[in-house]
Amino acid sequence: MYQVRSNLLFIGLLILCGMVAEPAMTFAAEGFPETYDVIIDVGHGGVDGGTSVKTILEKDINLAIGKKFYEKLQEQSFNVGITRLQDYALSDDSPFLHMRSRHQKDLTQRKLIADTLNPKIFVSLHVNWAKNQKRRGPVVIYQASEKSYTLSQVIQQHLNQFYGTRKAPIKGNTYYLMKHLDMPSIIVEMGYISNPKDLQMLMDEETQEKIRACRGSRSTVC
Ligand SMILES: [Zn+2]
Repeated sequence: MYQVRSNLLFIGLLILCGMVAEPAMTFAAEGFPETYDVIIDVGHGGVDGGTSVKTILEKDINLAIGKKFYEKLQEQSFNVGITRLQDYALSDDSPFLHMRSRHQKDLTQRKLIADTLNPKIFVSLHVNWAKNQKRRGPVVIYQASEKSYTLSQVIQQHLNQFYGTRKAPIKGNTYYLMKHLDMPSIIVEMGYISNPKDLQMLMDEETQEKIRACRGSRSTVC
């Protein structure tokens, strides 16, 4: 069951990669990819749980799905990077010590990773929340560029099919990463944590089990 759901969710993202580029097969001498096809940005982490419902935190859902997406793309020979593979705050790695806001440190660290690795596309994974529990469905946010808009359309259409919704992508003029990244970038709000149906789709049994196991252990590697 989990595999089926995961595959459906990732097909759209794989299409996205296929649209932009063939997998890059060139490698630098150090063993790192010369060019990254995609960077998966796993939203929140550590002290920053993101949005939540009861004991379920957005950061854990983002990580569970982000890791799966990362593995899938690697299997397909894409050069893929990910902003975190564990539960920690990226703001802790920030070299910008003068910044007071942890949130700003977090975002600038994500931009620093993107700028350094310079991928063909940057995909940020998040989960939505609304007071109205009936609100549901995935929303893709795009930056002010044609490539980003095209990517958002493809992913949105695919996710709409998967969720049975008819949402349209929205322009993310005010989002820091959408404003400041040079490569085609999108934010994927993968559904509403506040909607029971979406939550069920985001939290399949295996993910729930993993999150429970992480909560029960002292390990930071989940
Ligand atoms: Zn978020």
